[in-house]
Amino acid sequence: MKQFVIIGLGRFGTSVAKTLAYKYYDVLAIDINEEKVQEISDEVTHAVNLDATNKKALTNLGVGNFDVAVVSIGEDVHANILTTLILKELGVEEVVAKAQDSLHGRILTKLGADRVVYPEHDMGTRIANHLVSAQILDY
Ligand code: ATP
Repeated sequence: MKQFVIIGLGRFGTSVAKTLAYKYYDVLAIDINEEKVQEISDEVTHAVNLDATNKKALTNLGVGNFDVAVVSIGEDVHANILTTLILKELGVEEVVAKAQDSLHGRILTKLGADRVVYPEHDMGTRIANHLVSAQILDY
């Protein structure tokens, strides 16, 4: 079974981590904020309080051995970018990174992110498509 590391436990990261854990996947959840780590600790395999821009700390945790990493750090674009770079340097096969806008997304792709997501934009598109397809069915 794939092992996941989720970095940044805002609404998006928490939702990803909890959903995977609910499906019995191994989930390592990381946040720089101790409270966020406490909040999720009962629901995931491991929850660790650290700054993900600290390459040594991620290395010591064995993050490079995980199959998939999700970078869900939001406002701190600098930390988001550095973390994505470090994860690819550590050899994580699949890195999914959350971007704030398309320029940010392009930078993440250049750094090696395997998938870039724009949660609010993506969800807006999904909902709109769903509304239209539901309308066709209704008709
Ligand atoms: P959402 O929309 O998903 O709620 P957001 O886009 O508002 O999130 P933030 O709250 O800025 O995003 O960041 C998400 C999480 O990332 C926060 O819990 C924050 O503590 C964490 N975070 C920020 N910087 C780091 C870092 N260097 N290392 C680990 N976690 C970090």
